Amino acid sequence: MNLIEGVNRKLDALAAQSLIRRLRVADSPCAPRQVVDGRAMLAFCSNDYLGLAAHPAVVDALQEGAQRYGAGSGASHLVSGHSRAHALLEERFGAWMAPAIPQARALYMCTGYMANLAVLTALGADADAMIFSEALNHASLIDGARLAKAGVSVYPHGDVQALAQQLGASSAGTKIVVTDSVFSMDGNLAPLPELLALCERMGAWLVVDDAHGFGVLGDSGRGALEHFGLRSPNLVYIGTLGKAAGVGGAFIAAHASVVELLVQRARPYIYTTAAPPALAHALQASLDIIEGDEGKQRRTHLAALVSHLRDALRPKRWQLLASSTAIQPLIIGSNDDALRVAAALYEQGLWVPAIRPPTVAAGTARLRVTLSAAHTHEDVAVLARALNELERATT
Ligand SMILES: *Cc1c(COP(=O)(O)O)cnc(C)c1O
Repeated sequence: MNLIEGVNRKLDALAAQSLIRRLRVADSPCAPRQVVDGRAMLAFCSNDYLGLAAHPAVVDALQEGAQRYGAGSGASHLVSGHSRAHALLEERFGAWMAPAIPQARALYMCTGYMANLAVLTALGADADAMIFSEALNHASLIDGARLAKAGVSVYPHGDVQALAQQLGASSAGTKIVVTDSVFSMDGNLAPLPELLALCERMGAWLVVDDAHGFGVLGDSGRGALEHFGLRSPNLVYIGTLGKAAGVGGAFIAAHASVVELLVQRARPYIYTTAAPPALAHALQASLDIIEGDEGKQRRTHLAALVSHLRDALRPKRWQLLASSTAIQPLIIGSNDDALRVAAALYEQGLWVPAIRPPTVAAGTARLRVTLSAAHTHEDVAVLARALNELERATT
């Protein structure tokens, strides 16, 4: 058998399970009204929760950043790629997180995926360490735990009691609890206050991946820790910047000593070219919006859209998960059914992604509706009508 045939066999196996994913090409900036493969669509797919990805002030700042700092950083941070733009952004994030983490310092990373690998491989570098990982954690946390020398123990979704038992029974030298703040495919929140209290009692780290909370949760958009009013030296926080912040990259915030250890030891920080400094410069404009009146208005509008959608959807066989965030999943069940519904919506000009295993558990294929402050109430009404009619039509 030649090599390519072997690959094609694997692709055929995926196709037989309705697990082939296909790329669609966006011909316009990320926005609710988007041209996709040449066709005008109303999209409910992105994580651009505040509508900042194409915001004129952010785009202007990106251009200004390119003028000032050039296109590329030229090297990794520790060689020569650490620009003033990176340093200023890190200072600002450090100050933002100071209410939640004593002696907070922040590190700007190229992506959230890499930030999660960095934190878990550096904190979990010793074989006698143990990572306690929430069952619904994002793939990047799972991969970080796999890459770490530490052992891994998965605790059931949202189950603080089970986690307490696992922590109590463990004799690990370093205990690291890691969780998404907002679960990316379910939209619900982790019980962070209870988890933090437990971690403090047990002398464990609490690593919080706030990919879907940063920018949208908390009074000033500082994320899940602000939302819950948490503060502890045990916290290690990851905020990603390609979602609500609308640009790209991520930051890690922790006690200055932890961040210094990351600078010295975290391979996803050390062995990669620093992100273009213009991105760091553009992010300053995003942060201005997030913490200002405009950010507050956008969060208020987004919350109203979420309520509107939940009031308007009346699923009978499908299940709308209990979520108060911009992530509103509708469980359909089988892969084929989820794909059929997504295709029918697409026919009507509505772009909603079908999410299948392994991203979610088998038998829980779903539509993952995401809302953005850039949507209007009319957009939400159009989607709700289409979904209600489709469910009725497929009964
Ligand atoms: C998107 C996401 C990431 C990865 O962040 P990127 O910046 O896109 O690499 C990490 N964790 C969660 C929960 C996410 O949803």
